[in-house]
Amino acid sequence: MTVTVRVPAKVNVQLGVGGLRADGFHDLANVFFAVALGDEVTAEPGEGVTLTCTGPDAASVPLDDSNLAARAARLLAAHHGVTPNVRLHIAKAIPVAGGMAGGSADGAAALVACDALWGLDTPFETLLELAAELGSDVPFALVGGVALGRGRGEILEPLPVAGTFHWVFAVADGGLSTPAVFRECDRLREEAGTGSSDADVPTPDADPALLAALADGDPVALAAALTNDLQAPAISLRPALAETLRAGTEAGAIGALVSGSGPTCAFLAKDAEAAAAIAKSLEESGTCRAAHATYGPVPGARVS
Ligand code: ATP
Repeated sequence: MTVTVRVPAKVNVQLGVGGLRADGFHDLANVFFAVALGDEVTAEPGEGVTLTCTGPDAASVPLDDSNLAARAARLLAAHHGVTPNVRLHIAKAIPVAGGMAGGSADGAAALVACDALWGLDTPFETLLELAAELGSDVPFALVGGVALGRGRGEILEPLPVAGTFHWVFAVADGGLSTPAVFRECDRLREEAGTGSSDADVPTPDADPALLAALADGDPVALAAALTNDLQAPAISLRPALAETLRAGTEAGAIGALVSGSGPTCAFLAKDAEAAAAIAKSLEESGTCRAAHATYGPVPGARVS
């Protein structure tokens, strides 16, 4: 028996970052948007947990127990008191350390794949709790669509959305470490004299204009409302990203922002044709390693 699960990447159409909390985390107002660009995780019977990976970034994916897919398999097995026996394979299309939650996506996909392979029939609510244990971005990869994440991002509220939005993702050479980008965000706030603790920075909230644009299926309004508090720190660590953003805008994107903690850049297009043209221009611009036209929202991790 082979179980194949498709799982989406995410872009944050809003990423509001609060001050640094005493526990080292930041409060976030995080509007996640699932896009069709995604990974495929296959589960087959095996002995113990073994893992393989293919794709352009496969060499930078850890194949040991630190991989979120392997951790997910072990966590699900431990929850049910069964022995984790599975051969997992990740067909990786999501850029690694790219700010698109690729590792989290594989964790969510492995939960769903192992649940089906082992015939466990775990309730969705329980899968969500296990996902939150694995990492803040994992629950969204199970849910998909568009959702508001609060807290560290793990408390999810699905949001109404109409129609399909067309996106282009420009993949950079090399990744950015998410903790390093948060540290740079704190450093820039200190440097600006505003302070970086949760006493200094107002708790972020979802932008009503952004929520309305999603509910109306209005790409122009969504483009105007895109915000990411991690964009300035990501550009500060990787100044070349400013060139990528400019190249996509010059190619006709109606909105542009760094995806999550970067370095992938996301561009909103007015339709599928425009997205294909923007992707082509970006590849020719030499400001990114590759550019992919895609769309969303799409559902979360599902057996295909
Ligand atoms: P986020 O947007 O959630 O911050 P990201 O997209 O920037 O994440 P990931 O691709 O999830 O970054 O990878 C971050 C690190 O996680 C990698 O450098 C790698 O060491 C580790 N990792 C663990 N499991 C995986 C996986 N299945 N795929 C890719 N990276 C993984």
